[in-house]
Amino acid sequence: MTDLMKGKRGLIMGLANNKSLAWGISKKLAEQGAELAFTYLGDALKKRVEPLAAELGSDIVINCDVSDMDALDTAFDELKSHWDSLDFVVHAIGFSDKNELRGKYVDTSLDNFLMTMNISAYSLVAVAKRAREMMNENGSILTLTYYGAEKVIPHYNVMGVAKAALETSVQYLAADLGPEGIRVNAISAGPIKTLAASGIGDFRYIMRWNEVNAPLRRNVTIEDVGGAGLYFLSDLSSGVTGEVHHVDAGYHVVGMKAEDAPDL
Ligand code: NAD
Repeated sequence: MTDLMKGKRGLIMGLANNKSLAWGISKKLAEQGAELAFTYLGDALKKRVEPLAAELGSDIVINCDVSDMDALDTAFDELKSHWDSLDFVVHAIGFSDKNELRGKYVDTSLDNFLMTMNISAYSLVAVAKRAREMMNENGSILTLTYYGAEKVIPHYNVMGVAKAALETSVQYLAADLGPEGIRVNAISAGPIKTLAASGIGDFRYIMRWNEVNAPLRRNVTIEDVGGAGLYFLSDLSSGVTGEVHHVDAGYHVVGMKAEDAPDL
């Protein structure tokens, strides 16, 4: 199987560097023949994203801050100047003030609550609204979420609340766009060391806890996430929409500390 994505064009939003979940997904898609375009946030990331895009044969690299609706319109206009249609979108974007990803959720400020919801949850809706206009039948939209939407994870705080909104948005968008043949799904990834993750307080402890308690007794990689991403963005998952799929070495099924887990 080397041509699963042949003839398909997709937009990757949320690539920051070669540790990004978006990179794990992009590599799998390119290996299977997908044609890719990328967005990046601001000039500082442009110089990181351009060479990565080039590595996968893409020279479509577009600036886009998803919290700015005009910037989103401009980005999609630019994409339309390259391509007349689109088969898939990867939304791998989340952000919150790192000062509020430590301490307690009860101390979340209104400003950061709204900003986190906007960038981490509403942006999927805003992207889907624009992508839909360009999408072929059998289109697929994929976002990234985390278990902190379902259960309390220390320090994940407002991001957990935003991910819950994101997961519910996946369901509502799946219902809205399904009649047009567009599928909307999420991967709930286990903890992986990335730029975004470094903002979460005690992230190293979360990773270690998952590693020793997950059924597979390991953490997942961006390649694990990439494999599941390929499934959702290809026709392999043609009958699947509105799904939140865990790629977490099975951690979400565990109710208690594993008997063989060391004290951390
Ligand atoms: P990352 O830092 O590589 O990617 C986050 C991306 O969000 C960056 O490219 C950043 O530029 C982008 N971004 C932030 N604010 C933006 C804005 N206003 N407009 C446009 N882009 C913006 O980290 P990652 O871990 O690969 O994160 C990707 C997604 O995966 C996020 O939604 C994250 O919550 C989710 N996720 C990560 C983990 C993990 O452990 N790393 C686990 C589950 C889910």
